[in-house]
This record gives sequence, structure tokens and C-alpha cells, in this order.
Amino acid sequence: MVNHVEQSVYERLPNYKYDGLKKGTFCPFCTSVLIPFTLKKIRCEKCGYEEDIDAAVMRSVKEFHLLFPDRKITTMGIQEWGGLILSKKVIRRVLGKYLTYIEKGGHSHYLLTK
Ligand SMILES: [Zn+2]
Repeated sequence: MVNHVEQSVYERLPNYKYDGLKKGTFCPFCTSVLIPFTLKKIRCEKCGYEEDIDAAVMRSVKEFHLLFPDRKITTMGIQEWGGLILSKKVIRRVLGKYLTYIEKGGHSHYLLTK
């Protein structure tokens, strides 16, 4: 008997693919889509949950990296994964603040080192 308690949602879906997954920044409580509320916060319209944009972007980054460890973390990639609700400028600022920037011609990306 497999111990199901230790399996994450994603481990129970062995054949997930990037294109098949729903993109977006979701409310951790009611799983609705979060939308920008102020310059610093995004908000769930359903339950009223608010989250700092920095925290929300980092949540997307960690989720993306957990699901797709082979994919490079880029501004565009995280923007798309988060459902395109935030501008590239905002995402670049957050990634630059918390991640290590690897400059490599047209293939610059970020590394999660913290
Ligand atoms: Zn909610």
C-alpha cells in the first residue's frame, strides 16, 4: 500500500506537461485566480485574501521550479506561468531581488539559490 499522505498533488499526476497545466496565480485558500489589487498587492476577489506581489511571484517561481526543474527560470517564463497578470517589469524586479541572475547572451535566466 502506497502512503498517499506523502504524495503531493503533482506526484499523483505523473504525466503532467507544461502546456497542459492551467497557468495563473491562485489563491492558496479557495484556488480562485488572484488579480492585481494595488502596485504591491494582488487579491482574491472571492475570499478577500491579499498577498504581496513579491510573495506571489516567488510562490510561482517555486512552483514552476518544483514542477519543471529542467526549465530555466526567466522573466517571460514566470510571467506566463503566473497567468500574465503582472508586467515583465514587476517580475524582473522581484526575480532580481530574490534570485541570482545568470547573464548569458539572449538566454539569461535566474537561479533559485536561497
Ligand atoms: Zn481566495
